[in-house]
Amino acid sequence: NREWHLLSRPVGWPKPEDFALVESPLPAPREGQVLVRNTYLSVDPYMRGRMSAQKSYVAPFELGKAMQGGAVGEVIESRAEGISVGDHVLHPLGWREYAVVGAEHAVKVDPGAAPLSSYLGVLGMTGLTAYAGLLRTAAFKEGDTVFVSGAAGAVGSQVGQIAKLKGAARVIGSAGSDDKVRLLVEEYGFDAAFNYKKGPVAEQLREAAPDGIDVYFDNVGGDHLEAAIGSLREGGRIAICGMISVYNNTEPAPGPRNLARLIQTRGRIEGFLVNDHRDLQPQFVDEVGPWVASGRLKYRETVVEGIENTLDAFLGLLRGDNTGKMIVKL
Ligand code: NDP
Repeated sequence: NREWHLLSRPVGWPKPEDFALVESPLPAPREGQVLVRNTYLSVDPYMRGRMSAQKSYVAPFELGKAMQGGAVGEVIESRAEGISVGDHVLHPLGWREYAVVGAEHAVKVDPGAAPLSSYLGVLGMTGLTAYAGLLRTAAFKEGDTVFVSGAAGAVGSQVGQIAKLKGAARVIGSAGSDDKVRLLVEEYGFDAAFNYKKGPVAEQLREAAPDGIDVYFDNVGGDHLEAAIGSLREGGRIAICGMISVYNNTEPAPGPRNLARLIQTRGRIEGFLVNDHRDLQPQFVDEVGPWVASGRLKYRETVVEGIENTLDAFLGLLRGDNTGKMIVKL
């Protein structure tokens, strides 16, 4: 069994020396546990936070131990009631080839209903993040003009499409390459999109949304957040989902300089965590599942193969190598 350990806490951008792929003996499952052969691992931006020592909403990864993360795998030994050999489960012990998982942490998933990797993305955690953040935190309503950053990523691409499917007046996305921008407009049905690397975000946003925006779904922070506040209409709502532009900073990033616009616009900014919205899971699956199955909601995955390439997949995610959910296939 090979598993990825964190050796030292990265300062700034994580370096390969901060990690090691380690061979470890395969543990036997005890009563109430199952042994899973992982087939798909998730790498996600929040993992950068867990590599630091600061306590956050999830505990830091422990040095010298296997890191964790979402994974899907096949049960190859079971000592748990209700889970059989051959079942596929979603569980939190990724970054390794095999995992011994307590039944209470394993959720059975149906490979016949949807591709297994989709339980990590479009029908999984990132999908629910998009759904909950847009509909609940940003209180999206029909007729809204919506701006989403990180729009070609797992969460962002779903935010924009859900907004369109639910009657947004206009959806604008930003992403870091011309190919991604093209994908947003030509395949995902965004009304406009721009490459944030090609010019000031505030200017490009004003051009794409000359009448302003009602909702900003923030995956990025920094200039993007300031630009969104600058374009906010009266009663506008900003959902803070993530701020990937600052995750590798060694100093606190400056805040938006135009916060006072929230007064005249009666605007609202609110952060959220997907874990607080688990109650929406059934509604999310009922509504989004059929859109995915019918192809009305499109998604991409960037699939990297091999346990030995898991770290590269994670680092690539931070650089923007992915389009849609970044997945590791074992
Ligand atoms: P993505 O699939 O969006 O991948 C990350 C993307 O971020 C990259 O592809 C890259 O795309 C973009 N990026 C990287 N650096 C920058 C930068 N400096 N400025 C702008 N964009 C950048 O990841 P997810 O969909 O999984 O996550 C999106 C966001 O949602 C993250 O901020 C994450 O932390 C957050 N999140 C929050 C949750 C919550 O509960 N609040 C739950 C899940 C995710 P590009 O080529 O466009 O630069």
